[in-house]
Amino acid sequence: METSMSSRRKVLLLGSTGSIGTSALKVAQDIPERMEIVGLAAQRSVEALVKQVQETGVKQVALTDEAAAARARALLPSDVTLHVGTQGLVDLVRASDADMVLVAIVGVAGLAPALAAIEEGKHLAVASKEILVMAGEAVMEAARRKGVNVLPVDSEHNAIFQCLEGHRHSEVRRILLTASGGPFRQLPADQLPQVTVAQALKHPTWSMGRKISIDSATLFNKGLEMIEARWLFDVPMSRIEVVVHPQSIVHSMVEFSDNSVIAQLSHSDMCFPIQYAVTWPDRVPNNLRPLDFAKLAALHFEAPREQDFPALNLARHAGEVGGTLPAVLNAANEVAVEAFLNGLTSFPAIWQTVARVMAKHDVIQHPTLEALIDADAWARREAAH
Ligand code: NDP
Repeated sequence: METSMSSRRKVLLLGSTGSIGTSALKVAQDIPERMEIVGLAAQRSVEALVKQVQETGVKQVALTDEAAAARARALLPSDVTLHVGTQGLVDLVRASDADMVLVAIVGVAGLAPALAAIEEGKHLAVASKEILVMAGEAVMEAARRKGVNVLPVDSEHNAIFQCLEGHRHSEVRRILLTASGGPFRQLPADQLPQVTVAQALKHPTWSMGRKISIDSATLFNKGLEMIEARWLFDVPMSRIEVVVHPQSIVHSMVEFSDNSVIAQLSHSDMCFPIQYAVTWPDRVPNNLRPLDFAKLAALHFEAPREQDFPALNLARHAGEVGGTLPAVLNAANEVAVEAFLNGLTSFPAIWQTVARVMAKHDVIQHPTLEALIDADAWARREAAH
């Protein structure tokens, strides 16, 4: 990775009204000398977006929902350019004078703008893990060709990124992804069919958006992160392991060839990884809460319950087979999570749907972007049956 990054980042924030988006705005307020927000995008949260425009003074925004955009037009100052629709995200990336695009949109809608950012030579900070799960090979290859940095915002990957700094790739033995275990870590398997949406949304340590909260409860979040790590750090799936750590203080670890393990620790606040992605390779003082080891409760580690939560094995299989299979896993999971959130299916139906759709898929290796998009659409149709 190149290290010549100017000291004040101009950041275009995609998904600004969400959980990561609002944390990113907090970081920008905390370290204004290092981070300036120059554009915002959301789907349909008009009032929140308009308020953010007033607070940041940005002149470039996008809303993908057309009805919401029509409403926003009347509320936005006349000197603010509003890009509309899915294409509006790409147009915003192209029109923006940002040098970094922070992609924090749920699902795969962030893929086209992420690729546009790379084409434009803008560095990427990626929170949307679905992008790397679906098209990790293509995204990382395009970024390498353009000399664009892909900086991980996901707390685990940001931690691994920090643990790897200054070390040789050939000396990495294992990547140890920590997982909180979610709200059902200790729930007996025979009670999983009865869990409610409200119970599944109640994450024990992180406050996050709805989709990722359900993914944390099924462990698909960790499965997606295994595939994300495979591409971000160019390691085979066989070297990526999951360790359950309920306190979410150790954000992940790397074991090296001499059996030494390096870990990254902080409170569970996404402002930490967002800031490091923005200020990298520098470390900058902030107003975040430091760890107090005298007050920390014990840190626990345990093996994941792979039999009761099949998401991990499904993701490992998808990551090992590669090609279009991770995109299929991701798309089927998105549809199944939506159905669960809408009260249409049970909790175990999420992984049952993903397993069924993956088993039916004819994998294409080294797919083009078009083939990935087709596989994604196919999996969505199959999952909805
Ligand atoms: P939220 O649901 O809180 O926010 C999603 C944001 O994306 C909102 O601004 C939403 O706009 C916008 N959005 C959704 N769909 C579209 C679309 N089609 N086009 C444009 N904008 C869209 O999600 P999170 O912030 O929790 O998660 C964002 C991403 O970051 C996910 O990929 C997640 O996996 C990842 N992530 C999140 C973490 C967290 O702590 N929350 C941790 C690590 C990764 P609107 O408000 O208008 O709907």
